Amino acid sequence: MNKKINSVRGMHDYLPEELKIWKKVENIIKQILTSYCYEEIRLPILEKTKIFQRAIGNVTDVVEKEMYSFKDRKGNSLTLRPEGTVGCVRAMIENNLFFKKKQRFWYLGPMFRYERPQKGRYRQFYQLGVEVFGLNTADIDLEIILLISRLWKCLGVDPYVKLEINSIGSKLDRIKYQKELVFFLEKHKNFLDEDSKKRLYTNPFRILDSKNTVLQKILKKAPLLKNYINSSSINHFNILCNMMNSHEIKYIHNHNLVRGLDYYNSTVFEWKTDQIGSQNTICAGGRYDSLVQELGGNKTSAIGFAIGIERLVLLIRSLNILSCKEEEINIYIIFIGESNKVYAIRLSEEIRNIYPKLKIFVDFLTCSLSKKIKNAVASSAHIAILIGTNEIKKNCFLLKDLKKGKEYFFSKSELILKIKKFFNK
Ligand code: ATP
Ligand code: MG
Repeated sequence: MNKKINSVRGMHDYLPEELKIWKKVENIIKQILTSYCYEEIRLPILEKTKIFQRAIGNVTDVVEKEMYSFKDRKGNSLTLRPEGTVGCVRAMIENNLFFKKKQRFWYLGPMFRYERPQKGRYRQFYQLGVEVFGLNTADIDLEIILLISRLWKCLGVDPYVKLEINSIGSKLDRIKYQKELVFFLEKHKNFLDEDSKKRLYTNPFRILDSKNTVLQKILKKAPLLKNYINSSSINHFNILCNMMNSHEIKYIHNHNLVRGLDYYNSTVFEWKTDQIGSQNTICAGGRYDSLVQELGGNKTSAIGFAIGIERLVLLIRSLNILSCKEEEINIYIIFIGESNKVYAIRLSEEIRNIYPKLKIFVDFLTCSLSKKIKNAVASSAHIAILIGTNEIKKNCFLLKDLKKGKEYFFSKSELILKIKKFFNK
């Protein structure tokens, strides 16, 4: 036997059993997005590498070490998208969607990051992304938070997720703050672990996220970003908090919350859970008011978020809350003898023409009649129709009601009418 070839590490197959939950989750998500008038957009999985470098930032983890980049046959550097915002902004600019007053978008699809695979962290994973353009007041921040809260409620996970929110001010604010933070950390350089030492001059904000307990203690005395934030961002954040209070949205103001991608400003947020292990953020987002301009468009405010679908499904599974009843086979067609196969297929096609919503299964296995009936029972089909030479000749078919254990003989035209009664179609 030839040696088998497995999938790429960190990239998984999604089998029908698991997809039952996925589809349910996706349907609920789509229904809620539609109810808020958000429209779907489908974007390429490959983009030019330079767009991610420019937008996400060259010294971020994503660009520095997580991107799947390669040269195409003409030597152009392309990258499997590590996230969806950048491609969405590019598409907005390229298709002039800003002028068409299109503002609210969503997409669902795979993203790729070369990270260490573990529970809740994969190299190919699915994100539901939402992006809204052209609205600069906190009203849209609130709408997005209300939308996500509604989603948690509909899925039944709301008691198990917590919203953390912060304002990270403008780029200029963060440059000023970064200087002070680096100055402080340099004084405590001996306590920095290897990772943090590396980040000190590249991305010192990520040090604030460090899980190192000694470092966490020292960080308690570090200068706080909130003291460097401009008054307009503070004002925006206060308005948002007041609105969240009046809509009874529960949140934690986490002063240390920063995002891993450079383009964010002002409002940032994450929803976390303590039910799925260490990879505990299931949704993250924020404002990115200068990205459109940075990518060649006109100055346009924007806000967005992404939900990691695998983590959300992990949460739903760990809580065992979304029942996914098997969608049963309605009609199981059994033919007796190869020569009657053509008739069986034709009959199944006729039934599908008349009742397109029914699930009709034709058993092609070459085995005994009793084995086929056993298969029909095991499949939880509602009824079975038996087709043999005699039945075709006499135009009289055996219909077995597998749920009630009853049997009937019908002519073909009666059969078609009875199916209507059986399934209320
Ligand atoms: P984290 O640090 O938790 O991996 P991040 O800040 O890198 O998250 P974002 O770029 O904000 O993540 O992506 C939004 C969401 O996508 C995350 O909150 C998470 O649910 C999901 N996600 C990100 N990376 C992965 C991954 N490698 N595998 C599975 N899900 C992921
Ligand atoms: Mg990450």
